[in-house]
Amino acid sequence: MKALLLSTYDLGHQPFGLASPAAWLIEAGAEVRFLDLAVQEFDEDAVIGADLIAIHVPMHTATRLAESAILRIKEINRKAHICCFGLYAPVNEEWLRSLGVHTVIGGEFEKPLTDLYRRLRNNSYVDGDPTVVSLDKQDFRRPHRVGLPSLDQYAQLIWPDDRRESVGYTEASRGCKHRCRHCPVVPVYNGQFRIIERDIVMADVRQLIAKGADHITFGDPDFFNGPGHTLRLVEDLHREFPHLTYDVTIKIEHLLKRQKDLPTLKETGCLFVTTAVESVDDRTLLMLDKGHTRSDFQAAVAISRRVGLALSPTFIPFTPWTTVLGYVDLLETVYSLGLVDALSPVQLSIRLLVPRGSRLRELDDWREHEGEFDPSALSFTWRHSDAAVEVLYRRVRDLVSDGESSGMERRQIFSTVWQAAHIAADLPTPELKFINIRSSHPYLSESWYCCAEPTEIQFARV
Ligand code: SF4
Repeated sequence: MKALLLSTYDLGHQPFGLASPAAWLIEAGAEVRFLDLAVQEFDEDAVIGADLIAIHVPMHTATRLAESAILRIKEINRKAHICCFGLYAPVNEEWLRSLGVHTVIGGEFEKPLTDLYRRLRNNSYVDGDPTVVSLDKQDFRRPHRVGLPSLDQYAQLIWPDDRRESVGYTEASRGCKHRCRHCPVVPVYNGQFRIIERDIVMADVRQLIAKGADHITFGDPDFFNGPGHTLRLVEDLHREFPHLTYDVTIKIEHLLKRQKDLPTLKETGCLFVTTAVESVDDRTLLMLDKGHTRSDFQAAVAISRRVGLALSPTFIPFTPWTTVLGYVDLLETVYSLGLVDALSPVQLSIRLLVPRGSRLRELDDWREHEGEFDPSALSFTWRHSDAAVEVLYRRVRDLVSDGESSGMERRQIFSTVWQAAHIAADLPTPELKFINIRSSHPYLSESWYCCAEPTEIQFARV
């Protein structure tokens, strides 16, 4: 029986979310093909020949892009069984089923997806399968990457001297032991996380290096949820591959609590740590239940800098609690902490998304802003009570989008937003002075974000 594993978008990564279940399905006897619409054209032959089509939806943009893929699949292969799996599948179950998706799987998806394959093959599948959200511990297999597009088609690591290196993406854990209110991990994992065995991660990194990877991105929601596991992993990796570099995501709270472990990250090749700061306003941080304050963020920057570990912060600058002056304060904080080069410009324009299942909906402070659920955006709508914030949001979004599409450097884009924000706040615009002539911060060519509009290019492939 033929299974087609399809990805629409995975933040510029060669999709681990296809490679991992592929290993399970092949072991169960499936003939597996891949289609990654982020880098490949829609392949009608692959779709027509498939009995099971499983679409990975790990994030918001990927899920929105899945709609046109599903509609096209239904046009040309009505017989195929369509499954959506991944973090965004269960919270969007109703919408996915309305598009014609038969099976919805969330959480630890490899085993339930393989079980589905077996039931289809054995003709024991019963229509109307309930949605599966499995947090069962799994014995992972080494991901199967043969047949995926090559690494040079995905995001690359860019050094300050414009050198480019190939990046492999893998995961050492899933889920998270925290329950931040805005986070899409929470409705599925609800404070739990699951480890991928060290020998499996090591084997996956070995095969990524064999395919040309110079740098590894660990996509764990938080690399320090299980620090015993991940620290030993990077020590083992460094012993075997002393020149390998990598990046991870770690929350501010963990950076402070585990500061004694930060030198280990640095010594084992960690180039930068993505950290979800989200806001520098303590009231907003409380709403989001982030577990850190503005001063914690400042302390984390200082501590990381002392050990020579670069931080790459992410923000959600536009929330119902944003003010124009607060936005200027955010820019001033980023600038004064010397983080302009470390900040991907898209982070200046992110607007809060509130999908079904979001813990934010528990809050009176949120509910007073909540509008209708917008199925096309997969989010509840909201408008800021201050029209000036809405105007600033649109201005910043356009400046960032224009700047990125015309190839402007991060500093230039920051400067245009800096000026627009000060004008909006009716403040004089202070001159920006950068100490280094060039950025000293390596970064990935594809920005990290989980909530933004899909681009025309992304839509064009499906
Ligand atoms: S935002 Fe980060 S720390 Fe918070 S629940 Fe999500 S993954 Fe965990």
